[in-house]
Amino acid sequence: MPERPPRAPRAEPREVVELKQIKASQPELASAVDMQLALVDMQRRVQGRVPLPWIQVDPEWLRAQQTAGRPLVRFRDIPLEWTDFRLTFRQTADILQRFEALERADYNKIVALGREGNALETLVTNWYDATSRVDAANDTKVRTLAEAPAALDQVLLLALRPFLARCAEALTERVDLGSWKHGHCPFCGWEPEFAVITPSADRRLICGRCLAQWMFAPLACPFCANDDRALITSFATRDGRYRVYACDVCRRYLKAYDARNAARPVMVSVDTIATLPLDAAAIQRGYVG
Ligand SMILES: [Zn+2]
Ligand SMILES: [Zn+2]
Repeated sequence: MPERPPRAPRAEPREVVELKQIKASQPELASAVDMQLALVDMQRRVQGRVPLPWIQVDPEWLRAQQTAGRPLVRFRDIPLEWTDFRLTFRQTADILQRFEALERADYNKIVALGREGNALETLVTNWYDATSRVDAANDTKVRTLAEAPAALDQVLLLALRPFLARCAEALTERVDLGSWKHGHCPFCGWEPEFAVITPSADRRLICGRCLAQWMFAPLACPFCANDDRALITSFATRDGRYRVYACDVCRRYLKAYDARNAARPVMVSVDTIATLPLDAAAIQRGYVG
């Protein structure tokens, strides 16, 4: 048999290189970095298998949804293959448990849920319908099973991300978000988890579930719509790379990457970890994440 030529080592993705740099320069963040590396690696592999969906968006329906502040991705639009989702769900729980981000008792409950016949399918469908609010008919659906651990939200969110992110990718190209002025995601309805200040000094919010980006007023609160600048406290890191916007009405805050003089674009998986010390600073000032 002919010998196969050795494969050239593949270059590491930029986010992996950046995460390893954080670990080297801030050893106190090592465990958070390692957990993120494990999650990023798993999500990349899953996302590579998920086909880019073709989502039919009727222009009239699109306008109506946007006017009503309702997002666009219906559960049936998500290219979800249940066997693959089940595996992703289990692997996500395993990673969180390994890095002690999930209590053993919660982990056991979550893993058991993943094994139960169709319970997971029903749970995920209801959870998405209730949290996205695409359809007004689902507004009264319960968010999760009453007896389910709170940590379940985190596992569901991370496990659904590679599938939902493909929807956001597909729609970003085709949908004009110019009229979307809301604080929640125009595609999946979730809250922003991070933001980026663009070179033209606009602010784009980044969804905590599907990673879609959309424009939002720079000095308004996406969580409670407070737009009184006097009631928004903003502070930056010493190097000017990151900023926090905290709301003095609802007390929540959002972190941002300042791309105005930056060497690279925003990278959510990296920047959320690099700014963990900023979370501590915001919490110390009495704000909540
Ligand atoms: Zn989203
Ligand atoms: Zn607020």
